[in-house]
Amino acid sequence: MQLKKLTDRVYYLPGCSETDQPNLYYIRGRDFSVAVDAGQSGRHVEMFYDAIGAEGFALPRYTLLTHWHWDHTFGLPFIQGKSMANALTVQKLSEVQKWAWTDEAMQERLRMGQEISFCDEHIRKEYPDLSRIAVSLPDQGIFSPMTLDLGDVQLQLFPVDSPHSRDALLVYLPEEKVLFVGDADCGDYYDNQGLADPDRLECYLRFVRSLDYELCCIGHEEPESREENLRNMMQLETGKTEGRA
Ligand SMILES: [Zn+2]
Repeated sequence: MQLKKLTDRVYYLPGCSETDQPNLYYIRGRDFSVAVDAGQSGRHVEMFYDAIGAEGFALPRYTLLTHWHWDHTFGLPFIQGKSMANALTVQKLSEVQKWAWTDEAMQERLRMGQEISFCDEHIRKEYPDLSRIAVSLPDQGIFSPMTLDLGDVQLQLFPVDSPHSRDALLVYLPEEKVLFVGDADCGDYYDNQGLADPDRLECYLRFVRSLDYELCCIGHEEPESREENLRNMMQLETGKTEGRA
């Protein structure tokens, strides 16, 4: 599988719905490069790194995690370089690190509402041998915005709440007007039955509207324009019945 080129500096390995594999993004700087998301397994990281190598590019020095969900983080033990995330992602993953990966333990988490069936199903597809699942923690968790200087361009990192999860990390490349959001623009399947909480959505929309982005790099579909991105978010189900009697 080859990297797709989006801009001068941004490339990505497209995901695949079979195991709910997300896109993995690569941002190429002069001094070093950065990956957005670690993927779901060692196999996934290997595909990504092979594609990076095939372009003759250096492996990422930093891997930034957009949120704690397995498909974006379970590749972490297999990456090279350092990793960073929202501090809440580190907190949540340290909880997930204690989970046992047996059929019984997974079924129990489904019963207890700690896991959702969509993820359970896809984890089992990606890991026919459940004992291979390993969860590691990001090297650094951040509480407030910070900047990563890649030499010729800067990346801005924003730990924010989102309608999808409470621990989003948005990555913004102002030079090219590209915003990386993971799944932050979707509803919350773990804590809100797939709906977008109206307050969280409004707060998130206010924040992204304040950024001058033209291209939005999302988790599971092809990157979209600012207009498409904002329109899709306006159409999210919030569970509110708009005053109809
Ligand atoms: Zn997610």
